[in-house]
Amino acid sequence: MTETTFQCPTCRRLELFEQPVCPDGHGADCPDWMCVVCGTALFVDPAFVLGPDVEIVTAHVA
Ligand SMILES: [Zn+2]
Ligand SMILES: [Zn+2]
Repeated sequence: MTETTFQCPTCRRLELFEQPVCPDGHGADCPDWMCVVCGTALFVDPAFVLGPDVEIVTAHVA
């Protein structure tokens, strides 16, 4: 399981994010990340993954 840290907009702090198994065939380029603490999903464009521009998609995964 791939893990990294992002500034979580829900936790309002740097949290560990996991990349769930992708059903869409994105592979290593999958833009979907999920906060392990609150479940907030982030959509991170791989082209901007090293920059500050992270599109926030508010979603709760039960
Ligand atoms: Zn969070
Ligand atoms: Zn994917």
